[in-house]
Amino acid sequence: MSTTPSLSELENSSEFIARHIGIDAADEALMLQAVRASSRRELIDAIVPRSIARSQPMDIPAPVTEAAALAELKAIAAKNKIFKSYIGQGYYGTHTPGVILRNILENPAWYTAYTPYQAEISQGRMEALVNFQTMIMDLTAMPMANASMLDEATAAAEAMTLALRVSKSKSTTLFVDSEVLPQTLAVLQTRAEPLGLSIKLCQGDEALNEDSFAVLLQYPGVSGVVRDDREWIKAYKAKGGIVIMAADLLALTLLTPPGELGADIAVGSTQRFGMPMGNGGPHAAYMACRDEHKRSMPGRMVGVSVDAHGNPAYRLALQTREQHIRREKATSNICTAQVLPAVVASMYAVYHGPKGLKRIAQRVAAFTAVLARGLQAMGFSVANGSAFDTLTIATGDATNSIAACALSTGANLRFVSNNSLSVSLDETTTRADVQALWDFFASAGKAAPSFSDMEAGSTTLLPSTLERTSSYLAHPVFNTHHSETGMLRYLRRLSDFDLALDRSMIPLGSCTMKLNATSEMMPITWPEFANIHPFCPADQRAGYAELDVQLRTWLCQATGYADISLQPNAGSQGEYAGMLAIRRFHAARGESHRNICLIPSSAHGTNPASATMVGMKVVVTACDAQGNVDLADLKAKCEQHSANLAAVMITYPSTHGVFETSVKDLCALVHSHGGRVYVDGANMNALVGLAAPGEFGGDVSHLNLHKTFCIPHGGGGPGVGPVCVVADLVPYLPGASEGAVSAAPLGNAAVLPISWMYCRMMGAEGLKSATEVAILSANYISVRLKDHYPTLYTSLPQDGKPGRVAHECILDLRPLKESSGGVNGVSAEDVTKRLMDYGFHAPTLSFPVPGTLMVEPTESETIDELDRFINAMIAIREEIAKVEQGVWPQDNNPLHNAPHTAAALLGEAWDKPYSRELAAFPVPGLKQSKYWVPVGRIDNVYGDRHLFCSCVPQAQ
Ligand SMILES: *Cc1c(COP(=O)(O)O)cnc(C)c1O
Repeated sequence: MSTTPSLSELENSSEFIARHIGIDAADEALMLQAVRASSRRELIDAIVPRSIARSQPMDIPAPVTEAAALAELKAIAAKNKIFKSYIGQGYYGTHTPGVILRNILENPAWYTAYTPYQAEISQGRMEALVNFQTMIMDLTAMPMANASMLDEATAAAEAMTLALRVSKSKSTTLFVDSEVLPQTLAVLQTRAEPLGLSIKLCQGDEALNEDSFAVLLQYPGVSGVVRDDREWIKAYKAKGGIVIMAADLLALTLLTPPGELGADIAVGSTQRFGMPMGNGGPHAAYMACRDEHKRSMPGRMVGVSVDAHGNPAYRLALQTREQHIRREKATSNICTAQVLPAVVASMYAVYHGPKGLKRIAQRVAAFTAVLARGLQAMGFSVANGSAFDTLTIATGDATNSIAACALSTGANLRFVSNNSLSVSLDETTTRADVQALWDFFASAGKAAPSFSDMEAGSTTLLPSTLERTSSYLAHPVFNTHHSETGMLRYLRRLSDFDLALDRSMIPLGSCTMKLNATSEMMPITWPEFANIHPFCPADQRAGYAELDVQLRTWLCQATGYADISLQPNAGSQGEYAGMLAIRRFHAARGESHRNICLIPSSAHGTNPASATMVGMKVVVTACDAQGNVDLADLKAKCEQHSANLAAVMITYPSTHGVFETSVKDLCALVHSHGGRVYVDGANMNALVGLAAPGEFGGDVSHLNLHKTFCIPHGGGGPGVGPVCVVADLVPYLPGASEGAVSAAPLGNAAVLPISWMYCRMMGAEGLKSATEVAILSANYISVRLKDHYPTLYTSLPQDGKPGRVAHECILDLRPLKESSGGVNGVSAEDVTKRLMDYGFHAPTLSFPVPGTLMVEPTESETIDELDRFINAMIAIREEIAKVEQGVWPQDNNPLHNAPHTAAALLGEAWDKPYSRELAAFPVPGLKQSKYWVPVGRIDNVYGDRHLFCSCVPQAQ
């Protein structure tokens, strides 16, 4: 008898869960059978140690449908008030060109991509990043630039430590010009303290009066002033100091650039190149430096190399500077950066070209000059004689009434002091805006002038000595794609080069590449979230405040911690903030001498790099043969360093893909020596709903919302790395000014709606199911591949059941190299390249164990996609067997020659010992749907020897 479901069943509010989780009940039954578990419950109970199981389910509201969640979020967003912003201070109105908004920011081909470590399948976004680097190098007139920094304030902090590394001065003082943005100063103060550096404010050439290793200038200054400092810069540099300039890119289209003024390092934000203010982020910051400092520069850099066919190809350059190789000696802890916003900014320059950018800048400068003239005609004095886009106006007793008048008509001015206000104009400014601004000031009793009167005879406020004479953006890429059709096709061409989640699974262990649902993405470009200045009055950000509170509450539920800050804008920054909290905690108890941080050898490179940045000394501890933290070694080192033990940093479940049963003992041991436990939360996708680090002994964790909570990777950022702490560490969370770790109080605020939507549509039960299915899928892959590629670390097989893994598994390929010929045998890297021919992005290569592949399928993939991957891996194993058997030579086989481009396959000559068909279509499905890799295998060594980080001349 069929029964009609009840109305409330028909209204089923959890339909999204089945969209997010790719496995349905029938698939699950098949997979459970394959892994020899009778139920999901039995499987999970056998994997997650009982000792750490949650005491209670998460208290997160029951899930609602996509439509209902969007409606609920819209109501929250409506509590933000969109005011016209004249605040400036590093954040400006901008028009995101529609073709860029829709085809990059809202396009999964761009936003679901991973960091371009697999260079051959990342050529599109790397070309965009080379364009970005070229744009920065040209506009700043510096010979080197990286591919993005997290925000202007942290970029300035990274510049400070770069300067410290390269300066010949012995001083530990950094001079900061009083014109520097206040949020930059706040982050510098946070970063300087643990390193024993002191920050002194100065006014321009006062920096000459005392020893210092570097000086930071703002160009133009926060007041709007445009100062020509080149004379004293010469004298300063002659004393051995490093000159850092934080410079506004739009202004640089008109002003003599930092490189020509003598700067050694330039930093700044690219926000006003097309990225909405978004309450503070995400935006790409930039860093450029002199050639001799490039090997000390932090952050990723894209360079040009050659592929196996001798053609130019892009890949990440000089990776040996970075945390994943250099660990505690790295130039910085940065991992996830701001690739998607950097792509937007670069394309803004591609679309407008040098002439278009200059026209925008000239318009801003011209409006500023007219505005100033009008204000002066009304009797106001402008404090900064020179200006590009900002005026600081002496407003005396009228300050409050003028600001109130602006507010009452929906505009924000910047409150500078009790008797002065400042106004910043931008790309969006119109005549009507200037007239309205005069009207605000007229509220003080003075008549507003007419625009045409003021326009006539207004002269530029840009100092004539600083007029830019050098050209920029001469490369054809910035002078070609100016029609919308041309731009659309350029963007499509680049995204077609790349393999992102919109084409296939990206089974990267530790990186958690899961669904970024469209409904989660839609809110981020809603004007109510996009058009908010991070320093506007709090009541205009009430929607963000509510989002912040709700999301923190849910994340506290998921982690078991007492409180959370969403300010850190990447996992690395969350680590930094968390380690800083531990440092401050010890200091507050008079135990500043505690500076030893124990880190297992399997840790992610950001861990030792972050510990070093808070002044701790890293001591590495061993792992045992099962991949667990070697407790005996840890115990010995705790005892050895007991008096000075500050912290232990672990990852749980470990980067070896196993749940260590002794984690509670480990935490207790560390606590007994007075240390605190940092649990790296990158693997939370194995824990949400099942176990909570704040309950089983962790004191601090960071989350990666761009892993576990569905913010897309964006090709290498943006990210959000909330820092979570137990109760006694809450006072040490990052603040808005004191202890700030990011420029904006809520960090990359504009992408938080993604994680909010995910939690709201999944609810506690859905989130828990996601975790369980992620674990099931990893075990399914491990078991299905075990006869072809053994999993390196599993729990012990029991009752005839296979050993278990957590949400990822490490496939051991090391024996294959031996069996296929030793040093010249097939390597794990060969397999990653051959997977491209099969249409896959490889799993994580050689982390945490060299010569292995770490596979993390996530819950979002369907069984068909898991099987497609498994079948590809098995087919590749059969190819390896042919090398083992000598059928194919070690240096001429489909793995060695992978990936195969169409050009190579269709060339006149084909002298390989295997067919073209096998090269291109090794499994049947590929004939219907084939991803063609645009370049052959890239030579990394060549690229680092011939470092070239800007657009190839004439390359089109
Ligand atoms: C991704 C990751 C990090 C760093 O996070 P970012 O957001 O890239 O800075 C730290 N630890 C582990 C284990 C990770 O997987």
